[in-house]
Order: sequence, then C-alpha cells, then structure tokens
Amino acid sequence: MFRKNCYKCHRPSFSSSESGQWICPVCGEDLTSQRLFNAITMEKVGMRIGSFPVPKESSKKN
Ligand SMILES: [Zn+2]
Repeated sequence: MFRKNCYKCHRPSFSSSESGQWICPVCGEDLTSQRLFNAITMEKVGMRIGSFPVPKESSKKN
C-alpha cells in the first residue's frame, strides 16, 4: 500500500500500486510526480518496485 499527499487539497490518497498515473480522488489533481510514501511505515519510497520491507507486526495474526 502506498500513499501520496495532495499538494492542492492536502488530503492523503492511497494506492496499491506505485506505477502508472496517480490522480487525487478528492480534487482530481495529477499526483504522479509527487513524493511517494509507504502507507504503513510512512517512509519515503524510491522508484524501485517490489523491494519495500514488510513490517514484523503484521506477519502473524491470532
Ligand atoms: Zn487533491
């Protein structure tokens, strides 16, 4: 899960994919070139695909 912050309406938007076009669901602004964050850890994500760490907490569920 990835997250971007809209510079226009200042709302976060979420996507399961970091590739392709990213349009703000609130105001319709194109956020494709905006900074990308990991929605879980809130760390900045580079443009590398498939290499973000999985949080330890969510690996086990009882
Ligand atoms: Zn927006």
